[in-house]
Amino acid sequence: TNRITVAAPVVELDGDEMARIVWRAVKETLILPYLDVELEYFDLGIENRDATGDRVTVDAAHAVGRRGAGVKCPTITPDEARVEEFGLKAMYRSPNLTIRGILGGVLFREPVVVPGLPRPVPGWTEPVVIARHACGDRATELRVPGEGTLTLAFTPKDGAEPVELEVYDFPGPGVALATYDLDASVRDFARTAFRYGLERGCPVHLSTKNVSLKKYDGRCKALFQEVYDAEFQADFERAGLVYEHCGADAMAREVFKRPGGFVWACRSHDADVFSGIVAQGFGSPGLMTSVLLTADGRTLLAEAGHGTVTRHYRQYQQGGAAATDPVGSLFAWTRALAHRGALDGTPEVTAFARTLEQTCVETVEGGQMTRDLAQLTGPDRSWLTTEQFLAAVDENLGRKRAASV
Ligand code: NAD
Repeated sequence: TNRITVAAPVVELDGDEMARIVWRAVKETLILPYLDVELEYFDLGIENRDATGDRVTVDAAHAVGRRGAGVKCPTITPDEARVEEFGLKAMYRSPNLTIRGILGGVLFREPVVVPGLPRPVPGWTEPVVIARHACGDRATELRVPGEGTLTLAFTPKDGAEPVELEVYDFPGPGVALATYDLDASVRDFARTAFRYGLERGCPVHLSTKNVSLKKYDGRCKALFQEVYDAEFQADFERAGLVYEHCGADAMAREVFKRPGGFVWACRSHDADVFSGIVAQGFGSPGLMTSVLLTADGRTLLAEAGHGTVTRHYRQYQQGGAAATDPVGSLFAWTRALAHRGALDGTPEVTAFARTLEQTCVETVEGGQMTRDLAQLTGPDRSWLTTEQFLAAVDENLGRKRAASV
C-alpha cells in the first residue's frame, strides 16, 4: 500500500489505563496503516515509571527536545491511593510537570469544534485556546505547626543587602506557600502566545489578578505589554488583530459573550481551572487537545487534554465495551504529525494530518460518535464504541483519499 513517508522520527510517550487502550487503537487504525513513520517509543505507563525510578520520563522529555515532535498519552499522576494500588516505590511527580520542567514552553489547550454538535455553551462556535504558562508551577508549601512568624527572604548573589519581608504573625497552626516566576520566562510566554495568535489569526487576551497581586501579576501584565509593543504590535495591526489585558474575573465573564476564536493567556492555576470549564462548555473533555510548544517554536509535544479516564477503565476491566471518545487522542497524533511535516518540509505529511482531522470532525457531524458526544444530542441517541467510531473514521478517510486521486 502507498503509505506516506515521514522523514524524521516522532517521539511516542505511552500512558495509562483507558487512555492507553484508546491510544493504541488510534495508532493501529489510523496512523500506522497510512504512514511510514519511525516512532521513538517510551513507555510512561506507571509500572515502567516505577521500574525505572521515573528515569523514563526524563529520557522521553530529552528525546522530544532532540527530535522536535512528540505525542503523549495521558498518564497517572500518583497520589497516596495510587501508590498503594500499584505498590509504587515513590509518589512520582506528574510526568507533565517533569516534561515541562525540561522543555519549558507554553501549553495551549483547545477543544475540537464540531459544527452542529449541541454544546452547553451554544454561542461558542470557534475554539477558545487557553495558553498556560509553564514556569513557577511548583510552589514551596509549608504546613505551619503553630504560633510563629512567617517571613519571605531573598539573598542577592552580588552581595547587596538581603531582603526580608514579614508575611504573617501566625497565632496558631495554618499553611503557607511561596511561588516564583522569571521575567525571561514571562517574556517567552508572551512571545509564544503572540506568535500562536498570529499564526492562527486570533486576537490574544491576557488575564491576571494584577489588582490584588500588584507586583506578581502586575509584572506579568507589564512584560506582556512590553513584548507586544516592541515585537508584535506592527504585525498584529497588519493582520487586523488586537491584544488586550483583562482582570481574570472580567475575562471569565467576557468569554461567555464571545463566539470563541481567541487565545486566552492565563496564569498557570487559572489556566487549569478555565480549561476545565472550556472543555465542558464545548461538549466533552474527550474533545480537548493540549499542545506544549517551546518559545523558539521548534519543539511541540501534543496530548489529549483529558486524563486516563479511570472510570471507563474500571468498566472496561469488568468486560464493558470501550466507549471512551478518541477524538482528543487522534488530534494529539495529527498535531504532532503536522508539526513534523512543517519541521521536515514535507507538506504531504501535514496535509495527511489535516485531512484526518477534517475526516474525524465530519464523521461526528455525520452522526457517528461515541457515547459522551451522543448524549449531547439527546437522551436515547445510539452511539458507537471507541473501535466502531475509529473504524467509521477509517472508512471515511479511505473514501476521501480515493476521491482525491
Ligand atoms: P479524566 O479526564 O481522566 O476523566 C474525568 C471524567 O471526564 C471521566 O470520568 C469521564 O466522564 C470524562 N472523560 C474524560 N475524557 C473522556 C473521553 N475521552 N471520553 C469520554 N469521557 C471522558 O480525569 P480524572 O478521572 O480526574 O483522572 C484520572 C487519572 O488521569 C488520574 O490518575 C490523573 O492523575 C490522570 N490525569 C492525567 C492527565 C495527563 O496525563 N495529562 C491529566 C489529567 C488527569
